[in-house]
Amino acid sequence: PTRSDIHYFGAGPALLPTDVLEDAAKALLNYSDTGLGIAEHSHRSEIASTIINEAKADLASYLDIPDNYEILFMQGGGSAEFSAMAYNFVGAWVARKHKELGPDDSSMQELKLAVKNFKIDYIITGGWSKKAAAEAERLFGSEHVNIVADSRELNDGKFGTIPEERTWNLSEDAAMVYYCDNETVDGVEFPQFPKSLEPKHDGPIVVADMSSNILSRKIPMQNFSAIFFGAQKNLGSTGVTVVIIKKSLLPQPSVALMKQLALPIPPRILEFETIAKSNSLYNTLSIFDVYIAGRVLKKLLQQYPDKVQGQQAVSELKAQLIYTALEARPDVYKIIPDKTVRSRMNICFRIEGGDAAEETFLKQGVTLGLTGLRGHRDVRGIRASNYNSVSLESAKKLASFIGTFASQRGN
Ligand code: PLP
Repeated sequence: PTRSDIHYFGAGPALLPTDVLEDAAKALLNYSDTGLGIAEHSHRSEIASTIINEAKADLASYLDIPDNYEILFMQGGGSAEFSAMAYNFVGAWVARKHKELGPDDSSMQELKLAVKNFKIDYIITGGWSKKAAAEAERLFGSEHVNIVADSRELNDGKFGTIPEERTWNLSEDAAMVYYCDNETVDGVEFPQFPKSLEPKHDGPIVVADMSSNILSRKIPMQNFSAIFFGAQKNLGSTGVTVVIIKKSLLPQPSVALMKQLALPIPPRILEFETIAKSNSLYNTLSIFDVYIAGRVLKKLLQQYPDKVQGQQAVSELKAQLIYTALEARPDVYKIIPDKTVRSRMNICFRIEGGDAAEETFLKQGVTLGLTGLRGHRDVRGIRASNYNSVSLESAKKLASFIGTFASQRGN
């Protein structure tokens, strides 16, 4: 098959726009008539800084990110951010407490006491928030990790819901409250920003993993202390991870203070303050991946005059087409998550007849060019990932196949 025959619904990495890749192919050989390819230019060159700064400005414009936030390009994927967020926000919490209590000896005793009881809060709604919480337990000990809610408790040990906010057990003064806005494996997405996390005075510190739904809906950025996402699903190619963080939360306490408190400090490469000070060039960054992200953003800005809201409307329409086709045949398809928290990005369902029926569905799909639909190995079934680069035409084609496959199975 050729590229144009394929309607790809893989969970990540995702499709990239063909024209961006065609330009990138040329840029890899000779970027902007310099005779050197984009992946060969120094990350310290003016060319590199221009690419970074333009991508930051375009991302800020597209998502309407206020000036009091810094945009960082990091490495290590979303997974590195599980550790980075815990390290940096525990550091920021210590810095804040230290400032509140003051530097003298008696305050030091108070600080030591406070540190004994600090908490990092996690809302667990799927496999990725579960992993993030597990990483915080590895780094800081389970006594410091507070599980605010775990949707498996309500649902026979399975993900697929979001516990009601009135049941959440939020800590008084957590170093951060962490959640995953869209659970890629389980198909669960927060329908909106949780009411109980809305900012009051200085808190709570709210961090969200938006790896799989970034650039698909408007974000109330001021409600967040930080968000992060790998580029590879809705933004660009695999290799850069974006962190958007409130500038006031960047400063880390001194290494000496953290040692005195027997707390770990972030490895330099995961320290947001360091990455911010060097405009994301603390070490060699893949400028090629930032270039791709930048090109995708330019294209999105051109395509949608009302920016991310334009993309949001398309994402919702595509998801609606697919869910409507599934809902039309409840005798054949069972959508896994609860209707109120269904992801617009990762549409997860099972087919009556189980694994065998699903294999048939996948095989027939491939003959029509519908690929990448196999569910995650942990949950099986079918997963249609409806990222930005999936066209409306592809979504229509899938919806139509969902209908014809059901009618072949009788009735
Ligand atoms: N968070 C979410 C929601 C994801 O979907 C993924 C990967 O699919 C990750 C984190 C981990 O990202 P990475 O593979 O970039 O480390």
